[in-house]
Amino acid sequence: MARTVIAGNWKMNMTPSETKAFIETLKPMVAGKDKCDIVICAPYVDLATAVEAAKGSNIKIGAENVHFEAKGAYTGEVSCAMLKEIGCEYVIIGHSERRQYFGETDTTVNLRVKAALAAGFKVILCLGEVKEQRLAGITDEVVSMQTKLDLAEVSEDDLKNVIIAYEPVWAIGTGLTATPEQADETCGVIRDTIAVIYSSKAAKEITIQYGGSMNDKNAAELLAKKNVNGGLIGGASLVPEKFTAIVDAANA
Ligand code: PEP
Repeated sequence: MARTVIAGNWKMNMTPSETKAFIETLKPMVAGKDKCDIVICAPYVDLATAVEAAKGSNIKIGAENVHFEAKGAYTGEVSCAMLKEIGCEYVIIGHSERRQYFGETDTTVNLRVKAALAAGFKVILCLGEVKEQRLAGITDEVVSMQTKLDLAEVSEDDLKNVIIAYEPVWAIGTGLTATPEQADETCGVIRDTIAVIYSSKAAKEITIQYGGSMNDKNAAELLAKKNVNGGLIGGASLVPEKFTAIVDAANA
C-alpha cells in the first residue's frame, strides 16, 4: 500500500550547470519507471535550474531544508514561499547532518515539518540512531521517540504528505550499511509507532525509506524488505548510472 520513493540527497554538491547536465542525463534513464516516485533534493541555488530541467519528466525536485518562519530577520535561511514559487515539491527535514552540525533538535524539526506541510510540501523527515545508541540497545526507543516528537501536532490528514527516512547515523556516508534485517526491523518499529499515534491505516500507507550508504549493489536486497518503501540516497545519487540502478531495483 505504501508508495515506494527513491530520493537523492545531493548535500553540498553540484553547481547549477552541473545540475542541468545531471538532470538532462538522468531524464531518459529513468523515463517510464513508474513503480516508484523519483525525487532529487538539491542545494538551494540549484533548485530553479533543477525544476526547469526536470519539466515534463517523472523527476520531482526537493530542497534539503526549509525555515519555519514565513519571513524576517533570519540571515541565510530560506522560506517555504520562496521554495514554492520556484516549483519545488519536496523538502528534506531533520537530516542527521543538520542535527549534528547545525544544532537541529526535535523541536526545530517539528516546527519545520509543520510549516512545510502547511505550505503544501511533501516532507522527507529523517531520523535514526547514532552508533552509541545502537550499541546500547536503545535504537527502538530512540526512533520511536523521534517519530513522536518530530510529528507532534501533525494531523493524520497531513501525514499523507510525510515520508519518513530511517537513517542510522552510523551508516550515512560511511560505507557501512544496515543489514536488510536491521533496516526492516527498525522501519517496522517506526511503522508500529505510527500505528500507535495515528492508526493502522496510516501505518500501512506511510512510506518509510531506508537511508545510509544505499547503492547500486545493495539496493535490491534492502528494497525487498517488507517495511522498506524506498531509499534516501546520498553518495550514489551523484552518479546517474548508480542512481538509475537503484530506481531499477525499485521497479523490478
Ligand atoms: C543521506 O545523505 O541521507 C545518505 C543516506 O547518504 P549516503 O547514501 O551517502 O550514506
